[in-house]
Amino acid sequence: MQRLSPPRQAKEDNNMDSLLNDSISDPAAMAPEAMPAPTLATELAAPTVSRAYRCQCGRPVFLRNSECLACHTPLGYVIDRLGVVPLAPAVGGGALPDTFTVFGDPHGPTYRRCANLMTPAACSWMVPASREGETIPLDTQGLAPGYCLACSVTRTIPDLSVESNGELWRKLEQAKRRLISQLLALGLPVVSRHADPVHGLAFDFLSNMPGGPHVMTGHEHGVITLNAEEAEDAVRERIRAEMREPYRTLLGHFRHEIGHYYWDLLVLPTPWIDDFRALFGDDRADYAAALQTHYEQGPPPDWADRFVSSYASTHPWEDWAETWAHYLHMADTADTAMSFGVDATNVELASDLFTAADLWQPEHPDAAKFLDFINGWVLLTNVLNELSRSMGQPDYYPFVLPRAAVGKLQFIHGVITGQRPGSAPTMVVSSDVAATALAEPAPGQVQSPSESELPSQSQFQARSQGPGQS
Ligand SMILES: [Zn+2]
Ligand SMILES: [Zn+2]
Ligand SMILES: [Zn+2]
Repeated sequence: MQRLSPPRQAKEDNNMDSLLNDSISDPAAMAPEAMPAPTLATELAAPTVSRAYRCQCGRPVFLRNSECLACHTPLGYVIDRLGVVPLAPAVGGGALPDTFTVFGDPHGPTYRRCANLMTPAACSWMVPASREGETIPLDTQGLAPGYCLACSVTRTIPDLSVESNGELWRKLEQAKRRLISQLLALGLPVVSRHADPVHGLAFDFLSNMPGGPHVMTGHEHGVITLNAEEAEDAVRERIRAEMREPYRTLLGHFRHEIGHYYWDLLVLPTPWIDDFRALFGDDRADYAAALQTHYEQGPPPDWADRFVSSYASTHPWEDWAETWAHYLHMADTADTAMSFGVDATNVELASDLFTAADLWQPEHPDAAKFLDFINGWVLLTNVLNELSRSMGQPDYYPFVLPRAAVGKLQFIHGVITGQRPGSAPTMVVSSDVAATALAEPAPGQVQSPSESELPSQSQFQARSQGPGQS
């Protein structure tokens, strides 16, 4: 294992893969402005992340890109913009060497490349910089010197003297950048351990050492540990099959483990805990005993009616983490679909849709929108699953959401939207809970540009309904 160290020489620049979509045949027809056009998700003020990024030349670019393949404009992820933006070398006004401004905003803030750009991590994120005589904006998120926020939360990386570890590290960081970019867009606090040694986030990517204990994936007090071998496709797939899991990805691991982190932060010490216990069960139940029961006896026979996955039936903590991960899956996928103008209006597949009776708080003012979001998800994934089957691939979303999970998802939606600074209580107050649930914003919290609203059903409208959700 080694601690995150200063940049090493690049073995390979991995930024250039999957840069452009060849099917875009007429870039001139696209929005010419430098900044990404307002997406549908923005218009809907969806609580999710826009994934439709554009170069200044109009072509679509993606989260991992550091340069536009078509026009060679440098690109980078800028947290202030919550997205990948085209960049221009900063000039004049005391601009320092190797700094950039956002394209078309030469007098705006300046940025540097993350020190991990030229390492196997191939990080395309930007770090706030200063002009001569200017002070850098106060760092409340705990950046490691020279590194972006996504890299600053990595505490331990695999030993790069082992040739194959560079590739594993790249995959881990790529998945983590997608995670962090979504957390930021959702307005969730993302603070590294440099800023908050007690509650800050840290990721340890560890490898099994000969004679040492097997590295277990997990979360403890803000430290998320992942066995780096999970980044090896063959290993991860073998474990998935052995564990009879329908889905196992790096991003899925991260979304699950960060769920534990936010439970510690946003649920346990807040008044949400009472409603949590009513919905998910009593978290004070013996965790070790629950795990042992699960591994010895398997899940309860009716788990599929009550939980998003069999593992969720283990203990209320795991139910929360699994359901939280699903919320993040759903929000990111739905928003990506909408960002690129995909809608399920023409969905021909018949589906059982959920009703207000399935919600936790059907009387909440946002309940109808939330229901639309959930049902939109059902329709969208019906199509995506069929598309996957057309290619002989495993289902895109190999789960069936039980009715009982819908209320839990609405609860999670309330926790996420309710903790944003200045947000009104998002849940109808059934006790005197919700008003006081608005905890102090954590240090470094990014204000999301969006409100608590959800994608509208109109984006997903089905033409037919009926039984047969698959
Ligand atoms: Zn371009
Ligand atoms: Zn970085
Ligand atoms: Zn867990």
